[in-house]
Amino acid sequence: MNHVTSKEITHCIRCGTCCLKGGPVLHHEDKQILREGHIGYQHLVTIRKGELAHNPMNGKLEPVPQELIKVVGKGEDWSCIFYDEKKASCAIYEHRFLECRLLQCWDTAEIMAVIGKDTIIRADIINPNDPIMHVIETHEQECPYQEVEILISTLSKGEDKGKTLKRLTELVRKDVSIRSFALSELELKKEYELFIFGRPLFKVLKDRGLTVHGKI
Ligand code: SF4
Repeated sequence: MNHVTSKEITHCIRCGTCCLKGGPVLHHEDKQILREGHIGYQHLVTIRKGELAHNPMNGKLEPVPQELIKVVGKGEDWSCIFYDEKKASCAIYEHRFLECRLLQCWDTAEIMAVIGKDTIIRADIINPNDPIMHVIETHEQECPYQEVEILISTLSKGEDKGKTLKRLTELVRKDVSIRSFALSELELKKEYELFIFGRPLFKVLKDRGLTVHGKI
């Protein structure tokens, strides 16, 4: 496995570059941090299976092979929500995650050894009896992310434009509708939405240069 070593830097100089690039992906070892209440669902975002994300192994933007739970960014930015730029420090340093503890930018061997291994999914940290689990399953069935990527690819080839846009609009509407149901009927807290359902499809599409309205 390739990893990076640097002759110039031999210890953390608190430049913040790693935290500004984005928060970590959570592993089973990190569940304790949640259990102890140092972080909550409001600090997490789900990257759905098939969604594009930077692969730290090769630096490329690639579909994730399995669902991932990641620390959310600040606003539209991916920089870690726990990074305090003014103090150049981590707000939860004593309880930081496995990937944060292992990341040494001057020698990435340790972090590379855990990337993509023993990561958690939503079902690992939600009570199985919580009715939201059923809504998550419905959302995955009704708005499968992998279909979104297939449709985007079809559009980029200029094939079946009308039919493809119609289906994308349908998926965006279902996505909005299921989220609205959970917020109003199950009283899901708005701040948990990114963790429970991942990023709204209309936002994912916007980032890919596609504007699809999901008004219902
Ligand atoms: S949790 Fe802390 S150490 Fe980890 S990326 Fe965020 S700010 Fe950096």
